[in-house]
Amino acid sequence: RLGCSFEVRGGTLGVVMGRPSALQGIPYDRPVVGYGGKNINTLRLWSAAAPGAFDFAAFSAGEFVSALAGQLSAESLTRVLYPDDSTSMGQGLRFVQEYFLVACSLADLVRRFRRGHDDWGSLPDQVAIQLNDTHPAMAVPELMRILLDEAGLGWEEAWDLTRRTLAYTNHTLLPEALEKWPLRWFERLLPRQLEIILEIDRRLAAEVRARFPGDEGRIARSSLVENDGDRRIRMAHLAIVGSHSTNGVAAIHSELLRKVTVRDLAELYPERFGNKTNGVTPRRWLLLANPALAGSITAAIGDRWITDLAELERLAPLTEDTGFRDAVHDARRRAKSSFADWLKTNSGVVVDPDSIFDSQVKRIHEYKRQFLNGLRVVVLYNRLRQDPALEMAPRTFFFAGKAAPAYELAKLVIKFLNNLAGTIDGDPAVRGRLKVVFLPEYNVSLAERLIPASDVSNQISTAGYEASGTSNMKFMMNGALTIGTRDGATIEMAQAAGEENFFLFGLTAQQVTNSRPWYSPWWHYKHEPETRAALNLIFSDHFSRYEPGAFLPLRRALLEAGDRYMHLADLSAYLQADRRLLEAHADRDRWMRMAVANIAHSGRFSSDRTIVEYASEIWQASPCPVP
Ligand SMILES: *Cc1c(COP(=O)(O)O)cnc(C)c1O
Repeated sequence: RLGCSFEVRGGTLGVVMGRPSALQGIPYDRPVVGYGGKNINTLRLWSAAAPGAFDFAAFSAGEFVSALAGQLSAESLTRVLYPDDSTSMGQGLRFVQEYFLVACSLADLVRRFRRGHDDWGSLPDQVAIQLNDTHPAMAVPELMRILLDEAGLGWEEAWDLTRRTLAYTNHTLLPEALEKWPLRWFERLLPRQLEIILEIDRRLAAEVRARFPGDEGRIARSSLVENDGDRRIRMAHLAIVGSHSTNGVAAIHSELLRKVTVRDLAELYPERFGNKTNGVTPRRWLLLANPALAGSITAAIGDRWITDLAELERLAPLTEDTGFRDAVHDARRRAKSSFADWLKTNSGVVVDPDSIFDSQVKRIHEYKRQFLNGLRVVVLYNRLRQDPALEMAPRTFFFAGKAAPAYELAKLVIKFLNNLAGTIDGDPAVRGRLKVVFLPEYNVSLAERLIPASDVSNQISTAGYEASGTSNMKFMMNGALTIGTRDGATIEMAQAAGEENFFLFGLTAQQVTNSRPWYSPWWHYKHEPETRAALNLIFSDHFSRYEPGAFLPLRRALLEAGDRYMHLADLSAYLQADRRLLEAHADRDRWMRMAVANIAHSGRFSSDRTIVEYASEIWQASPCPVP
């Protein structure tokens, strides 16, 4: 139930304030089939409908459209799941969508719990709810509302059950991505939930005051309500205060979350904070995506790795086995050929499988620094143009990724990479030596094809900004070598495989923080000839001949606006790491030793390990064997 209703006006969905309404949730169960499993679980998704919205009288009178208007508007609530790109969003519809999905899921969960239990006290033993980011954080006041208003429990008991049932995973530290909903939206749409949030906040303030007397600044910083101008609810604070566990998704991320982003709450509740490093499923990302490599691994160590990826450790001694190295080399060569064939058939683009396949595939975002990769390519392009006799292994650079609809700079980066590809393609000076391909429509199916075919994985986010990353893991278990910054789970991957098997470069998270006050991109422009030449070439419209000035917004962000993500601070270190990489690649045995070491030590990055940690350390859930 909402404190408002919806209407379609002129083809768009409008919210009508002051006219309460109800929406109906229709469940759709999707089967979730585990590898070799004997049972099938279900994932329940929800669609919105308006009860009784169909106006039969209006329909009979010929007003076909208006008779369906209520139904149409309700459905538009669940038609689109906002593309989560961590920024450039901010729609009232998203707020209602979040509440709708929380309300449906909780009502359903409580109904099923009540079928077998009449004591509310066992709710946390029977049920574990993991808040996957802050998007479902309204579960805190909604579960409280159910326990207070429907179950008739007192505040203390309802609060204890709510906290013990809920747990929260944080996925990003970017301030613009931490949800903060206007308090007046709650006032109008969810007045009872707001009442509960404000009571939680009142009690929180009392607790902080008792623990840290005289520290009023801390109360304001910890509060669920941000109070600068228009009041907003801090959804991350709500999730942390209303749950028994908060975790980040890689060691460095969990530490920054605790020590910087929500430091005051971590000092208040230190025992609630932990880490669960992300993982990826080896069934999809190795067995299914790379049958040739999977076959070589199975031939060497048997097939237990499929369900216990730690088994890959047994490949470690085989780094010194030429037979195994050759098998891995052949399998990888097959994956490259089959990708090249697929690409040619499906897009007409021809790439040379004997060139180094160097990939950066992920959402387009300034902090992920696809433009830094673009600058690297422009520097290499300049080197080849200046010295046609330069010895350099042929390389193919693949980019893929989508941008959020309203993220203009990210879209301009896509345009730049496409223009870069076009210009380099048309330049006979570098033909057969350098190629850039931007693959459109990046999705999981494309990732499954490209990742097994890649020799090099670019993980080059500004240190401290990539919470975990997971494509880094997919590449690693397929035997690609990583060139990257010390960020997210890449740090743990390099630890597992040994830094000598990685090409790490650039500022650390600490150095990024320390140098921020005095960092100037101009210094690099003035003192680094290759950096300057690359930027001059781009901003002289070499890659935008028919659209002069097209890339000026990039110049503004990179030079005039201070280069928030410090592209220029890391460019020369990136180029040095790139030289080390080419050196290693020139020695096939050395490269394959490194590749095998990466595969052998990738076992920790299976999502099976991650899920076991969630189950045993957060949910207190033990395995339920199927006979
Ligand atoms: C794995 C994956 C991601 C996540 O990539 P990161 O590099 O970790 O950001 C994004 N999109 C698709 C399609 C993926 O398969």
